[in-house]
Amino acid sequence: MFGKKIGLFSILGFRVSLDFTWFFLAILIVWSLSRGYFPAVIEGLDPNTALVLGIVGALGLFFSIIFHEFSHAIVARQFDIPIAGITLFIFGGVAELEKEPPSAKSEFLMALAGPIASYVLAIAFYIIAGLLPDATAGAPLAAVFSYLAVINTILATFNLLPAFPLDGGRVFRAAIWGWTGNLQRATKLAAGTGRILGTFMMVLGVFSIISGNFVAGMWQALIGLFIIGAARSSEVQMVMKTYLDDVPVRQLMVGNPVIIPAHMPIDEIIEDYFYRFGHKVFPVVRGEVLLGWVRLEDIGKLAVKERARLTAFDVLSRDALDRTVSPDSSVTHAMDIMRKHNTSRLLVTSNGKLKGILTLKDIMNHVAVRQEIGAAGYPERSAEDSFG
Ligand SMILES: [Zn+2]
Repeated sequence: MFGKKIGLFSILGFRVSLDFTWFFLAILIVWSLSRGYFPAVIEGLDPNTALVLGIVGALGLFFSIIFHEFSHAIVARQFDIPIAGITLFIFGGVAELEKEPPSAKSEFLMALAGPIASYVLAIAFYIIAGLLPDATAGAPLAAVFSYLAVINTILATFNLLPAFPLDGGRVFRAAIWGWTGNLQRATKLAAGTGRILGTFMMVLGVFSIISGNFVAGMWQALIGLFIIGAARSSEVQMVMKTYLDDVPVRQLMVGNPVIIPAHMPIDEIIEDYFYRFGHKVFPVVRGEVLLGWVRLEDIGKLAVKERARLTAFDVLSRDALDRTVSPDSSVTHAMDIMRKHNTSRLLVTSNGKLKGILTLKDIMNHVAVRQEIGAAGYPERSAEDSFG
């Protein structure tokens, strides 16, 4: 879901990164804390101290968000759900799941872990704030900790709203999933409440803007929009899963792909492959064995002189070897790999030998066809058919 990210650090094997949109949130929080919140709760606060408190408060908030996401990630790991990492972005943080949870129980516990962690932090900050002296020196610090206690309570409570993709929506979905055994229906319902909450927040935002509270209003509307979008995409993903779980990669891959022999000079590749076929990448093989792929972007970086001198083998990129899938895997699994590597194209290999190429475009086409025909029409036969 993110483009370029800035890696920060790793804790217990989880990579924490910043999405670029995060800077917007950081500035907004420091600004609203140092201009609004702290001057309001501490009498006679000078602007410089207010700015320092704003920065400390924002750091505390980001620590709290990472703590929250971290607890999701820890529980996910207990259930072998791979986590790509923890990313801070404009609306807070997210522990990025590489796969959906395998069972209702795992989703339930994983989702609940975050809000519980935030409540625990809220209590801890509340206690610290109470222990600090109320004298002038201790007052600003106590104000920061009280703020963190309040914000963690809000964070936990808001996230418990039963609207997908919030944690509460996941808890809600897991409960219905566990109860009915029907993940599709559970997702539909949870996404439905997500849409209702998102719409409500957008309306609230518009009212806030009309009543003169522009920043808060914009914020509410944006979060509403985000929730609606995420609810929709989780539903789409669910539909895809329903259509694609039973489809093996071999059925949707393009077999006998156009390949480049490892020894071919770049000049020839440009002329006979990139110009001729219009693809952006070509697999490079030696014999039948896949060595990597040659990408248009890498060729473009070469000086003209080098193009005559180098061969496919010199410029191939081996990251193709991670972007492979077996012909017998399900297409759903292939899409997990695509999401993990942020690519729309996988090479299909069996024992290191190239068998075909699977593209997101072909998968989408298949889903579109299945949707037209109807979920039940293919490939299993219905009971009536068996009698006929
Ligand atoms: Zn959460």
